[in-house]
Amino acid sequence: METEQLASPYVDVVVLSPVKTPPGEAAPSFTYHVPDELRGHLDVGSLVVIPFGSRRLYGVVVGFSDETPVPETRPVESLADEEPALTPTQIHLARWMSREFLAPLWRCLMLMLPPGAMGRADVQVELVKEEIEDGDAKTEAQEQLITVLDAKGPLRGGQLNRLLPRKQWRRAADQLARRGIVVKSSFLAPPRARPQRVRTAEWVASDVDIDEALAGLRSECYPAIVRFLRAEGGPVDVSWVYAETGCQRYHLTKLAERDLLAFDTEETWRDPLADETFVPDTPPKLTSDQQAVWDKIKPQITNDKSQVFLLHGVTGSGKTEIYLRAVAEVLAQGQQAIVLVPEISLTPQTVHRFGARFGRRVAVLHSALTEGQRYDVWRQIRAGMKDIVVGPRSALFAPLSRIGLIVLDEEHDGSYKQGAPPPRYHARDAAVELARLTGATVVLGSATPSLRSYVRARRGEWTLLEMGRRVMAHVQRIAELRSRYNLPRSHFRPVGEESTEARYMELPPVQIVDLRAELRAGNRSIFSRALQGAVDETLKRGEQAILFLNRRGTATFVMCRDCGHVLCCPHCETPLTYHGPRSRLVCHHCNYRQAQPDRCPQCGGDRIRYFGLGTERVEQEVHRRWPEARTLRWDRDTARNHAAHASILHLFSTGLAHVLVGTQMIAKGLDLPLVTVVGVISADTMLNLPDFRASERTFQLLAQVAGRAGRGLLGGRVVLQTYHPDHYAVVAAAAHDYAGFAARELAFRREQGYPPYRRLVKLVYEHASLSRARAEAEALAGSLSDALARRGLPASDLIGPAPAFFARLRGRYRWQILLRHTDPARFLCAVQVPAGWRVDVDPVSVL
Ligand code: ADP
Ligand code: ZN
Repeated sequence: METEQLASPYVDVVVLSPVKTPPGEAAPSFTYHVPDELRGHLDVGSLVVIPFGSRRLYGVVVGFSDETPVPETRPVESLADEEPALTPTQIHLARWMSREFLAPLWRCLMLMLPPGAMGRADVQVELVKEEIEDGDAKTEAQEQLITVLDAKGPLRGGQLNRLLPRKQWRRAADQLARRGIVVKSSFLAPPRARPQRVRTAEWVASDVDIDEALAGLRSECYPAIVRFLRAEGGPVDVSWVYAETGCQRYHLTKLAERDLLAFDTEETWRDPLADETFVPDTPPKLTSDQQAVWDKIKPQITNDKSQVFLLHGVTGSGKTEIYLRAVAEVLAQGQQAIVLVPEISLTPQTVHRFGARFGRRVAVLHSALTEGQRYDVWRQIRAGMKDIVVGPRSALFAPLSRIGLIVLDEEHDGSYKQGAPPPRYHARDAAVELARLTGATVVLGSATPSLRSYVRARRGEWTLLEMGRRVMAHVQRIAELRSRYNLPRSHFRPVGEESTEARYMELPPVQIVDLRAELRAGNRSIFSRALQGAVDETLKRGEQAILFLNRRGTATFVMCRDCGHVLCCPHCETPLTYHGPRSRLVCHHCNYRQAQPDRCPQCGGDRIRYFGLGTERVEQEVHRRWPEARTLRWDRDTARNHAAHASILHLFSTGLAHVLVGTQMIAKGLDLPLVTVVGVISADTMLNLPDFRASERTFQLLAQVAGRAGRGLLGGRVVLQTYHPDHYAVVAAAAHDYAGFAARELAFRREQGYPPYRRLVKLVYEHASLSRARAEAEALAGSLSDALARRGLPASDLIGPAPAFFARLRGRYRWQILLRHTDPARFLCAVQVPAGWRVDVDPVSVL
C-alpha cells in the first residue's frame, strides 16, 4: 500500500499558516499534484513548500489520492526535509486535538514540529523598470523605496523594515507594483535551524618519513599534531586537535598544504546533556507497597492494549521508582517512553534519575534549550537514537515511532494545560489519546490527583493504584546525607517486615493556626505565636525553615487612606503591587511599572498606605524578628531563569541561609535535608477567588507544601496560618487526607453541575472598546442560548455574558461566557463561534 501511495499523482496538504478554508469545507486541506521530480519522495508527514495564492508557504502532506476534487491543481514546489517530519500517528493525534480543543489543525500540527524547522515567509521587492524617471515617485515613501532598491538591489521585507518606516514602504511597494515599477514576490527563508557541522582533520599520509615530511617546519606543535592524529586514526574535530596539541589553525593548514592531513566536515549533534555525567545506579528491590502496584502495571505493559493508571502516593512514596521500572520494561520490549514533568528547571533530580538508569538513551526537551539544540534533539529522536524523552508538556509530541509508555508526573499540575496560543490542550487528555492510538500504557502520578482523574479512576475507566501515606528514602542516601551534613539523627525508620534498602518516615504533623485568634490575643505580627516558637527552636538547633506565601511583592495593593483610591495599572485595571527595594509599583499581568507616588493621584492626600502581603514583605519581617538569621527568597522576581533556580537551591541546601521565603515554586519536588519547619504564612490566598477550583487548588498547594516538611532527615512540622481554620480544604490538607477532601469537594461539584461531572468551555472576547466587547459577547450569548433551547437544554447551562474577572488586561476589555455541556466541542461546532473569540475547552480556571 505504501508504495502505491507514494506513486499517487495527488497529495492533500495542510497549510501551516492561517488561511481561509474553501467554503463549506470542513477538512482544511488542499490538493496539489506531485511533480515528476518529487514522485516517490513524498510521504504522509512530509514537510513541503507549496504555492498558495501569490504566496509560498509550508505545508504537511496528510494523504495521497488518485483523483483531485478540483479541476486544476498546482504542483508541490519542494520538499523541505527528506525524512517525514511527522508520523502518521501524530497526524491522527493532531486531528483529534483540533476537534477536541476547537483549534485549527495546522496549529496542532505545528506543536509537533521543532522550532526552527521552517523559515519565515517574507516578501521580496525588486525594481524592474529600466530607467527611473523623475515622475515615477509620487510620494516621499515611494521616492525612498526606489532609492534604496536602486542602491541595494532586491530586498526582503525584513531588510526593508530596518531601512524604512514600516507601514509606509508596504503601501509604497503596492502602489509602485501596480504601475509596473517594482515587482513583489513571495520569499520563503530557509529553515532557521540547521544541522551543525564541525571541521575535522585527519592524518592521510601513510608511508612517509616524518622528519623529511616536516622538514623546515620548526614549531614543536608539528610532531605533537602528527602523534595525536596518527593515534586517533580517523577524522578528529579540529578544536580537539587545538586543545590536545596547543597548535593553531595555521599549523594544520601547513600540514594540509603538504598533503599530510586532510580537512573535512562532519555533522555533530548539539546535545544539551553532553556535559552531564550520569552515575549509573542499580534499581533497588521494591518495597511491598511498590511491588503491589508494579504487579498491576507490569502485565499491561507487555500487552498492546492501551490502559491508564492513576498512581496516587505522597511525594517521596516511591512513585518515580515505579516509573523507572515501567520504562525499563518498555525498553526491554523494544519500545519507547515519554516522561512528562511539570517544570523541568524545578525537577532536575528527575532527569538525573532517568539518566542514571538509562544513560544516553534519554533525551531532554525543554524551553531553556537553544533552537539549534532542540532541533538536534528532535532529529536524534526521529532517527531512533533516543528511546526516552523527558520534558514538559510539549515533549508529548516528540517523534518517537514506537511509544509503549507515557508517564505524567504530578498529573494535577496546571502547567500541563496550554493557555496560549491555541490549541488550548491538556497534555493529560492528549497523552491518553496518544496512548489509545499507539496501544501504549499511561501512568499518571500524583500526591494530590486532579479530581477529574480521580473520578475517572473511581468509575473504573482507569485503574486507581495507591501507595502508603509515608515518605521513603534509600538507606544509602540517608547515610550519605548524614555524613555530609554531620547529622546526629534521622527520623527515617525501617518498617516491620521490609528487608529492603528502604526507610520510612510518617508524614509531618500539621498545626492549623487561627489568625483571628492571634489578632484577638493582640499579636499583630504576620507570624503567629506558634510559628515564631517553631522557627525559634529550629534556628536554635542550627536547622532550616521554609516560609511559604503564594504571592510576590511587598504589598498586594496600595490605597489612599483619605479617599479610598486604589492604585491600578492603567492597562489592566487591576491593583498594582508594591515592590519594596526600589519602591516600585508593578502590574503582575503586564509588568507595567511606575515609581511609588508621594501623593494620591486622585485627591492629592499624602496618606498612601500598603495592604496585603507578599514574599518581599515576609522576608523583611523575618529580618526584623530574627535579625541574626540569613534569608533567601525564591520567587519569580529572584529566579527568572534556570540558573537562578539552581543557585538559590544550592545556596539553601548547602546551609548558607537559614530561612527560605518563597511562592509555590517551593512546593515542587525538591529535597532539603535540613528543613524542619514549614510555615504557611497564609493558606487563604486562593481560597476566596471566585473560581470553582479554588478549593481544589488550595488543597493541592497546601498538601504539597506540607509534604515538603516530611522529607528532611530530621522530620519536621508544619504551621499553617489561616482565617478559615474550618474550611474543609484546609482541614483535609492538614490531615493529609486526600480522600476526605475529594468526597467533600466532589459532592459540591455534583450539586453545582461543575467539572468533573459536567464539562465547561470558557469563551473570552477582548477588545480595546468596551462597547464592542460587550456587543460581541451579547450576540454570541444570544445564539448560544437559542442553540441550547433548540436542543431542550436548560438556559442555566449558559453563564454570562459578563465582564471577565480580570475585566481589562493590557488595555483591552474582556468579556466572557461560560458554557456547560457534556460534549462542548461538538456543541460549539454546530454553533460556529465567530472569529476573534478565545475558546478554552475544559479551562483550568474560569478567572
Ligand atoms: P516519589 O516519586 O513518589 O516522590 P521516589 O521514587 O522519588 O518517590 O522515592 C523517594 C526516595 O526513596 C528516593 O530517594 C528513592 O531513591 C527512594 N526509593 C524509592 N523506592 C525505593 C526502594 N524500593 N528501596 C529503597 N529506596 C527507594
Ligand atoms: Zn497591567
